[in-house]
Amino acid sequence: MPDTPARLPALFLGHGNPLNALQSNACTRGWAALGATLPRPRAVLAVSAHWYIGATAVTAMAQPRTIHDFGGFPQELFAVRYPARGDPALAARVQSLLAPLAVQADHGWGLDHGTWSVLCHVFPAADVPVVQLSIDETQPPAFHYELGARLRPLREEGVLLLGSGDIVHNLHAYAWGRHPQAPYDWALRFEERVRGAVASGEHAPLIDYPALGRDALLAVPTPEHYLPLLYVLGAGLPGESVSFPVEGMDGGSVSMLAVQLGA
Ligand code: ZN
Repeated sequence: MPDTPARLPALFLGHGNPLNALQSNACTRGWAALGATLPRPRAVLAVSAHWYIGATAVTAMAQPRTIHDFGGFPQELFAVRYPARGDPALAARVQSLLAPLAVQADHGWGLDHGTWSVLCHVFPAADVPVVQLSIDETQPPAFHYELGARLRPLREEGVLLLGSGDIVHNLHAYAWGRHPQAPYDWALRFEERVRGAVASGEHAPLIDYPALGRDALLAVPTPEHYLPLLYVLGAGLPGESVSFPVEGMDGGSVSMLAVQLGA
């Protein structure tokens, strides 16, 4: 991996099915390629769809546990451990950047599968410390975008801001069986709309995504998998390069699209 540059990219990954942690497919190979080519961060600050609570909190423990926050998956998945260290100093830095917002120093959470199911491919040695930031479910989308903007200085401090969710995430329509399901038209349209707006730096409609209509309602039936994208976009800079290093639609209704701001 190259040495840490002046500014790290901000990265959103569509994490999809937790089983990706165990698999090798086009997406997981894409995540591994990112880990091999991105500048090496000194730490990761992860905003995961799966820590969606009534507050903004930051994991502050020195050694976060691996959380298996799902049911109905093979035992092999419950055996996965991602033993990255925490970074209490980074947690304190996040608190100071977001002040006067009260950010709880958390000692009870850890790394949920939104974080470890992708990081086990990006940084398989688990040798980069990881801190998680929760998503406050009581706040509107603009709040989350603004927090991303306030976290932007971390990119110049060797920290990789990682949003982990899915731009399209409709599990009612998701094909859980083994048969391949072609992507739904509304899923493709919404993903394309988001992709176009991200590419052109047009963030206002992405923040006010419910106004995008029926496709948005189907693609984002609940906010938690979409909101991590807003943290990443908020941490972007005007005119910065935008790329989509991983693509694909899983089960017809889960977008695997990744967004990278900066190089
Ligand atoms: Zn998820």
